[in-house]
Amino acid sequence: PEDRERLEQQMHDMDSHTQFRDAGDWRHLCKDGSLLDVEVHVSPAEVAGVDASLALIHDITPRKQAQLASERRARELRLLAAASLEIIASRDLHTVLRQIAERARQLVDADLIVIRDWPPVADHAPAVGISQSDAAADWRGWIERIEARAERIYAQVVEKLYPVHFNRAQLLNLTGITTPHDPDAASLPFHDMLVLPLMGADAGAAGVLLAFSARMRGFDTDEEALLLQLGHIASVGLENARLHGALQAHMQELEKRVAARTAELDTSNRELDAFAYSVAHDLRAPLRAIHGFADAVLEDYGALVDDAGRDYLKRIVKAAHSMDTLIQDLLAFSRVGRGEMDLQKVRLDEAVAEAVHDLEHEIATRQGRIEVRIPSLTVLAHPATLRQVILNLVSNALKFVAAGMAPAVRIAALARDGQVELRISDNGIGIAPEHQERIFNVFERLHGAESYPGTGIGLSIVKKGLARMRGDIQVESGADGSTFRVILREYKNE
Ligand code: ADP
Repeated sequence: PEDRERLEQQMHDMDSHTQFRDAGDWRHLCKDGSLLDVEVHVSPAEVAGVDASLALIHDITPRKQAQLASERRARELRLLAAASLEIIASRDLHTVLRQIAERARQLVDADLIVIRDWPPVADHAPAVGISQSDAAADWRGWIERIEARAERIYAQVVEKLYPVHFNRAQLLNLTGITTPHDPDAASLPFHDMLVLPLMGADAGAAGVLLAFSARMRGFDTDEEALLLQLGHIASVGLENARLHGALQAHMQELEKRVAARTAELDTSNRELDAFAYSVAHDLRAPLRAIHGFADAVLEDYGALVDDAGRDYLKRIVKAAHSMDTLIQDLLAFSRVGRGEMDLQKVRLDEAVAEAVHDLEHEIATRQGRIEVRIPSLTVLAHPATLRQVILNLVSNALKFVAAGMAPAVRIAALARDGQVELRISDNGIGIAPEHQERIFNVFERLHGAESYPGTGIGLSIVKKGLARMRGDIQVESGADGSTFRVILREYKNE
């Protein structure tokens, strides 16, 4: 009936001169009431002087069916591909399970899909993914009844790795309804339950997939095969999510351990610093006595000893003096590592100006030249420590020049990516590449005290101070001088 109008219109439009032509695809009603797909070609004809039509009608049912089947197959493949993408992308076990359940239901037009991990993991609530149609609205009660008795079946399915069907009668039996007269029997919405195994990475069991159908015919072999394919994809997703979860837990554990170790290390470092500080401090008192008494002997009894004796006394005084400098430097070094370091906003040009000011006497005696080019920049730093860092670097730049040469120092700065780089360059004797790392260690010196006086602690203070201000230092050096690059954190008003 739906096609009649279109057919009449087409017959009316046909003119008697048209040659043989394609009249399109139609449906014919068979005597038994079934529909037949046909393709029609028509040509006007004259039969014994009477106008007529010659129609050729082909039965194209097989072609139509093949077309439908291929469309269905394409849709299934699209669904499977989409499922594998989703499942591989998602990290959370519950999301993975829910997505698989949703996809499985679309794929085979099921009424209820339940996916759960199996065997259950100790100390973990079972991970479950569910998707249901309206027909399975009260699924919860049925699943509880089934699960109460299904352990053995799950175990069997995951052990043998093959799917098992339950028809309605078997399902009723499984839910504990033994007679068809049981009033509950009529309310079971399902006619078929398919239990499929999901595999883990080591070919062991990862879970089960339960598919329920409310259709009389249940699931056919094609649908079973589709569910199996989806099951394989699901297994990969499940395993991924598990591994990801395990990795996450492992990482958290590691982070916790690192934090605990760091705290321990911090404490012992502090203790060590405090110890070094008090030892250095206590050493100064006897040293002052040695220095003072040697000086007194020299002054009050100098005339009673000969030249050699006086020379010895002078050496004692000098040695005591340099030891005192050493201890003071050590105390300064230890102080940089101790106590809280409050980082605050510091104007870099001001810090540099102060350090240069402190060095004025040294600059004058060495006839040095200092060129400062610092734009207006603010850094996050500890003011006193930053000043000490700059002071030590500039005083080295003034000190380590070849004899007879006037020191020329350039100080510049630039901001980049949230950091500020302060550069201190000199025209000094340079540092050989193999020594450039070790000069930052305590007591490390490349020259004798006669040519260049010092204690070898200045750069250690620089390094430690910068580390505590979350900065860094690098050195580049050649025959025409060295450049120390200090990295600081830019202060941003946020
Ligand atoms: P000190 O200056 O007391 O010797 P430092 O820790 O400041 O100790 O420096 C360690 C060593 O690094 C110096 O003895 C020197 O050999 C080398 N050094 C530091 N700065 C420079 C520089 N600007 N040019 C050449 N050598 C340097």
